[in-house]
Amino acid sequence: MALYADIIVDITHEDLDRTFQYRIPDELADSVAVGDRVLIPFGKGNRQITGFVLEITRTPGFDPDRIKDIISIKSDDALVEQKLIMLAYWMKSRYGSTMNRALSTVLPVKKNIRAVQQKNVVLHLSADEASEKLDNYIRKKHVARARLLKELIKEGSIDQRLVTGKLNISPATLKALREQGVIDIVSKRQYRNTVGEHEMEEPVKLLPDQRAIADDFIGEYNKGIRNTYLLYGITGSGKTEVYMEMIKAVIASRRQVIVLIPEISLTYQTVMRFYKRFGDRVSTLHSRLSDGERYDQFERAKKHEIDIMIGPRSALFTPFDSLGLIVIDEEHEHTYKSDQMPRYHARDVARELARLHGASVVLGSATPSVESYNAAVTGEYKLYNLTERAKGAKLPKVTTVDLRAELASGNRSIFSAKLKEAIADRLSRNEQIMLFLNRRGISGSVSCRQCGEPVKCPHCDVSLSRHRNGKLQCHYCGYEQSDVKQCSKCGSKLIGAMGVGIGTEAVEEMIRTMFPYASVIRMDADTTKQKGDYEAILSVFANHEADIMIGTQMIVKGHDFPYVTLVGILAADMSLNANDYRAGERTFQLLVQAAGRAGRGALDGEVIIQTYRPDNYAVTSALTQDYTAFFEEEMGYRKLLMYPPAGHMLAVMIESGDLKEATDMARSLAEALSGDIMGRASVVGPTSASIGKLRDVYRQMLYIKSRQIDVLTDIKDRAEAFASSCNSQNVRISFDLDPMNGY
Ligand code: ADP
Ligand code: ZN
Ligand code: ZN
Repeated sequence: MALYADIIVDITHEDLDRTFQYRIPDELADSVAVGDRVLIPFGKGNRQITGFVLEITRTPGFDPDRIKDIISIKSDDALVEQKLIMLAYWMKSRYGSTMNRALSTVLPVKKNIRAVQQKNVVLHLSADEASEKLDNYIRKKHVARARLLKELIKEGSIDQRLVTGKLNISPATLKALREQGVIDIVSKRQYRNTVGEHEMEEPVKLLPDQRAIADDFIGEYNKGIRNTYLLYGITGSGKTEVYMEMIKAVIASRRQVIVLIPEISLTYQTVMRFYKRFGDRVSTLHSRLSDGERYDQFERAKKHEIDIMIGPRSALFTPFDSLGLIVIDEEHEHTYKSDQMPRYHARDVARELARLHGASVVLGSATPSVESYNAAVTGEYKLYNLTERAKGAKLPKVTTVDLRAELASGNRSIFSAKLKEAIADRLSRNEQIMLFLNRRGISGSVSCRQCGEPVKCPHCDVSLSRHRNGKLQCHYCGYEQSDVKQCSKCGSKLIGAMGVGIGTEAVEEMIRTMFPYASVIRMDADTTKQKGDYEAILSVFANHEADIMIGTQMIVKGHDFPYVTLVGILAADMSLNANDYRAGERTFQLLVQAAGRAGRGALDGEVIIQTYRPDNYAVTSALTQDYTAFFEEEMGYRKLLMYPPAGHMLAVMIESGDLKEATDMARSLAEALSGDIMGRASVVGPTSASIGKLRDVYRQMLYIKSRQIDVLTDIKDRAEAFASSCNSQNVRISFDLDPMNGY
């Protein structure tokens, strides 16, 4: 019986985004496999082109007499890409997207790219000259120069991209230093063993707990056991050292490793730790790379020039041909979920990719996602535990302040008496302080105080916020207008910011008033708009050139600041009040991670959590740093309401520039699906999204819940088929499986 292959022919043309069927001739029947690149006749002229086999079936999709034969298999570089193509197909099927989008997500852009000349910055002074120069810079407060020189004295030579990127040294500074003969810039080819020239560091001696975990993993790995492991270890417990030990064993077996870390913790220090341990067999990807540089890194992986790729979620698609291990650090981070179709989660894609390669997956976190911890508890993943800080530093002392009591005693400021006192105390001892607020801007939504009419963004269904410059801004689309003087509805002139909306900008102002001699920096979305801003602020703080850092969740991510002895969380409730089912989890993670910033060095740390709900379980379990208590409570709630991971949820979004079109489509889709859904799943909606209009597009939602993920994939396929049968050009339907954010 004949075999047929569904083939996708080109991934760059939207209108070819479907499969075409070809017959597999008998002589190829044993050799064609899913993922293969094949040569086929195409179009009227039977032009010969290549395509990828996505599926093989016995049933022809149309009249067999009109089905053409595959000409041959192209076997050159298909092997590496084969697995990625199969992965794309899995992503398309699971998350919903066109094959086209899925393929362009996993395959590197093939453009005509000029090979970029990679450069290194090297020290051009003797050791004595260099340290004299360094003293000089420090005396003259040339902070950037001192920073660079300090690193160069240590490393001798550093990749120029790391210098301008992670070290945040401007091209102008580099030029000046080169002219003064302090440094030299040489191409990597001239300086062949660049990273290898770094003083390779002897690995630390693992502590008994770390050793036991590494040995267990390595033992299983060498026996051919492949699994998903969850390394649950408190902040500073030395997870990274354990990963490196595991990685060493895997590359010794001649297989490759992908390490995912959230973009925000892809710091110079982290990357350096890997370079120093593994030399130039390591490469990194980050969002600052151009398409060309990215492509280069992928080529190096293909040519076996590297064994370890470190990067954000897209590093998963590094074309390694024999993966042995995928590590996902800070696996609870929401940045592992893509917000574009296909809306994949890196954790699940990693597990599928590992299955295709026969590799293991190691997830690590101090605050594991409820999903992963549940999988570990139920035995699907293997659990490893690290309960002590590696350097012996004590966990900080955590206390709460009840803001209701504070208010009752007449303190209307956002700073409780206790927090204010603690700040003054640390300042007097020249120690550092981090203040954390999960909000930005200077005030909450602006509305009429007389009639309550909100001042809305003309493009989105949200109220505008007032900034210190007096302008009103939309945080969703960036729209800006001047302040309004009068209510458009009732004419009242009493327009103001409602509620307790207080932002980082306002906090900064208050701190400056209360502590005029302290030096303060702020890190939030507004102060980190330019490339390099983030690193610049961090390095100012790390160099102890500021006493207080105020920021949003950005500041809680894994940085080691040894002089931070006080962390203040100004209003723990803000993230609790968010209206989605992950609010409790997010709050707990934020509180624990923020607390983990205190007392990383020799000095003891203290954390003060201000809250209106001191008895909420997310707050109480953060107070005692008790993950399992939090997990039990949270899991009970998820089970009750069948939220992930107790069940699964598919968010279906119906979007149109026309409100009626969107609502009509949502209604008819819900009707069309009702037959399929009966008994297998439950539906909420159609309803308007909580932000019903965004950038002039109306958004309607359907939420479908089921215990079985397969039921939801099936319903998704039917919804897709229904939508395309409606042929309504102006309506877009998209899916989000187990969403991480509310819509
Ligand atoms: P985590 O990734 O769990 O936050 P890290 O791996 O960054 O922890 O370790 C925290 C600090 O402790 C780092 O400075 C690291 O070098 C150090 N450290 C970890 N393990 C050891 C060890 N076995 N001996 C000495 N220092 C260690
Ligand atoms: Zn009004
Ligand atoms: Zn807007």
